[in-house]
Amino acid sequence: MSTTGMPSLIWIYRNYQNCSGCRRCEIACSLSHEGKIWPEASRIRVFMLVPGIEVPHLCAQCHDYPCVDTCPVKALSVNKETGAVIVDREKCIACGRCIDACPGKVPYIHPRDNYAVICDLCNGDPKCVKACNEGGWNALQIVRRFGGYNFKLYAKTPEVITRELAKRFYGEEIAEEI
Ligand code: SF4
Ligand code: SF4
Repeated sequence: MSTTGMPSLIWIYRNYQNCSGCRRCEIACSLSHEGKIWPEASRIRVFMLVPGIEVPHLCAQCHDYPCVDTCPVKALSVNKETGAVIVDREKCIACGRCIDACPGKVPYIHPRDNYAVICDLCNGDPKCVKACNEGGWNALQIVRRFGGYNFKLYAKTPEVITRELAKRFYGEEIAEEI
């Protein structure tokens, strides 16, 4: 599906270099969505696959939403105001097709209940961004989603992002060992 013509969408810009690995974003997200501190159920997950490289990982709201298109029971839709993927928990059968379709393997199955978990942008007021900014890291920032940019470029696995950052931080030789 395409988002052409959708009004005022937001996007969470991620500046990986600024991420301290504090995981306040995971705490804020799980508190908001689950009512308790539960990083395993957070819609944003921070991966530290290599020392010194922290990767906040979350939905990139791809312009063509391959996850939405692939769902066999139409459990996924796009919020027209924010551009977020919305999961209908009642419809989802936890088949994992959306995970396979996502170039970043962003969705995952909720650790307790049988449905796919994807960032819903907190209905336009993302709590992870607030927590990150309050901590002074600004690794996450809300930006306006502008046309002509391929946000799907950010839909990469933590492994791929880590390798790219390692190349930048530590050089090609070290990155190749990862
Ligand atoms: S896990 Fe749920 S949302 Fe994902 S494709 Fe399967 S039914 Fe659809
Ligand atoms: S990043 Fe993954 S979950 Fe998000 S819109 Fe793209 S395919 Fe769907």
